[in-house]
Amino acid sequence: MVPVFDGHNDVLLRLWNRKVGDPVAAFLNGDGQGHLDLPRMLKGGFAGGFFAIFTPSPEDDDDDEDINPPPAHKVSQAAAMAAVTGMASILFRIAEASDGRFRVCRSTADIRAAMAQDAVAAIFHIEGAEAIDPELQALDLLHQAGLRSLGIVWSRDNHFGHGVPFRFPSSPDTGPGLTEAGKALVRRCNQLKILIDVSHLNEKGFWDVARHSTAPLVATHSNAHALSRTSRNLLDEQIRIIGQSGGMIGLNFANGFLRADGRWQSENGLETMLRHLDHLIGLAGEDHVGLGSDFDGARIPSQIGDVTGLPRLTAAMESHGYGQELIEKLCCSNWLRVVERTWGA
Ligand code: ZN
Repeated sequence: MVPVFDGHNDVLLRLWNRKVGDPVAAFLNGDGQGHLDLPRMLKGGFAGGFFAIFTPSPEDDDDDEDINPPPAHKVSQAAAMAAVTGMASILFRIAEASDGRFRVCRSTADIRAAMAQDAVAAIFHIEGAEAIDPELQALDLLHQAGLRSLGIVWSRDNHFGHGVPFRFPSSPDTGPGLTEAGKALVRRCNQLKILIDVSHLNEKGFWDVARHSTAPLVATHSNAHALSRTSRNLLDEQIRIIGQSGGMIGLNFANGFLRADGRWQSENGLETMLRHLDHLIGLAGEDHVGLGSDFDGARIPSQIGDVTGLPRLTAAMESHGYGQELIEKLCCSNWLRVVERTWGA
């Protein structure tokens, strides 16, 4: 089985939202809910990845089938910090109670050591910087706690920039780019070697990061706009510049970002995913593409189903003509290389 290192999942949000029972035990023992828990991850070859902490907008309806939902409400710093604390605590308690089978990794060496011992290697990632104050003091605290990856915005506006709203069909050019505070956040992330995720930025915000960041450009969970014209996907010139920067694009498994008609609920085959991979590889290069599943954050092809379906994706890559070396790059080693380039050893 090919080990998979994954660019994005929302299992911490799923666990934090659980109304009953212990979320830590649910994850470690396997609750069979959603897409991810530890027993299923081990079964599917999930070796590690970015574990997102995302604060939902409280007043939004959760109709995740709407291809043009209303704009998401902003979130206050206090609410976001409470959510970050709650989900980070679940992450750390999982690691604490896992007998070394699940580790929060703070360096590339940590990731390699975890993977060598068949432990899941988790990166502490925040999606949307609402919890961080304008003076960036909370960033120091979160970095010391292990934060190694940050999406400046989710798909809503915050102090640092303008998230791309979910629209179909739409260009990603939906509004202004980063604020001055957002540019300062980019500089500070570069200093602290925190990976910057551009996945939910609009086009102007993307180019602001490209201009101001000294690190490789990374879109942890985004697809090709040429194949699915949602505002959330990347234009060809964005895909090219990500490759040229030595960066990375993680293929998002979400139906709505794969399908040509932008629909969420419909059946969707693995061949759509392979078409996106071909397109991304053609523009960025085969060293700059990987997976960014969005497990537990999106409706995904039923042929994958949950994390135990990953071997069906790698089998489809093989039937599609991808060689073993390319499959290993896409599934794992490209992510490790870009993490090492961003963090150092
Ligand atoms: Zn996302």
